[in-house]
Amino acid sequence: MPVESRVYLIGAGPGHPGLLTKRAEYLIRKADIILYDHLVSPFILQYSKPGIEIIDVGKIPYTRHIRQEEINRLLVEKADEHRTVVRIKGGDPAVFGRVQEEVAVLEAAGIHCEIIPGITSASAAAAMLGLGLTSRDVSTHVTFTTGHFKESVDREICLSALLDGGTLAIYMGVKRMGHLMAQISSTTDVDYPVAVLFNATRHDTKLVCGKVSTIVGEVGGESGGSPAIIIVGDIVNLISVQAVSRLSQPGKRVLIRGARDEALGEAYDIYEAGGWCLIDDRDSAHMHESQRLWLEQLISENEFDEILECNNTSVY
Ligand code: SAH
Repeated sequence: MPVESRVYLIGAGPGHPGLLTKRAEYLIRKADIILYDHLVSPFILQYSKPGIEIIDVGKIPYTRHIRQEEINRLLVEKADEHRTVVRIKGGDPAVFGRVQEEVAVLEAAGIHCEIIPGITSASAAAAMLGLGLTSRDVSTHVTFTTGHFKESVDREICLSALLDGGTLAIYMGVKRMGHLMAQISSTTDVDYPVAVLFNATRHDTKLVCGKVSTIVGEVGGESGGSPAIIIVGDIVNLISVQAVSRLSQPGKRVLIRGARDEALGEAYDIYEAGGWCLIDDRDSAHMHESQRLWLEQLISENEFDEILECNNTSVY
């Protein structure tokens, strides 16, 4: 094992690169190898050195259980070979991120590891809607729950916090929304307001609002596999009209050709303007094969509204 080899379990936030903590960004820049999940926004990986290996651990084709074992095995193996191993997860790794399992495996193997918190999608979703998740007069507490349980598809979510005047933020709930809303209706006569926010903080955010009785119909087939947070409770009545008007226009998708270090600032400006951007630095002499293949695939499967040459004039 290299001297002081360390594994960082990093939260990448919900998508916008500005919602990465400074520490997360610093460690991604410094990483000797990166293992990442599929919900991590691709641009965030471009803060890394082009010459390091990046491994997609969101796509290993085994069952869920074996897949996590495979990730654990890889983490231990890579800590043997590299000094700074970075494992990136979407949002906050401590919220439905299975981080505890990875900490346990690393500690058992005698490997130093640290969790770097990130902004969880429920916080990001509330911020985009101009909402608090709690509010002194309307909702005194919030519950983060999931619509997807590993051990049983029939398991119900706990509604006591909602019924007691709180906010419910449901992760991974869109596929089972019919079932979840039916559970709420069968427990209470109150037809709570519901907001479903897809792709929070990304260029293609989409909001659907309704009530427990209507939201399934409102969402219809719109999910298209995009990640979404479902917020249930009276707080939803306070969604800011101004905030919603900012969501209506999808941002432009831009490809910037140039060296990563030079293009990062210009690319970041595009995110600040509500867009989506990738840097095409496949010409870079020392690019790791894993990064080149990853970039080739991303560029081929996305359409871009603009392709720019890096002019390095960013204000960032
Ligand atoms: N650790 C993550 C959650 C992982 S579970 C976090 O703290 O956010 C995956 C679920 O997170 C998705 O099914 C979706 O419910 C939610 N999610 C992740 N990114 C999101 C985004 N950009 N917008 C809305 N929901 C998101």
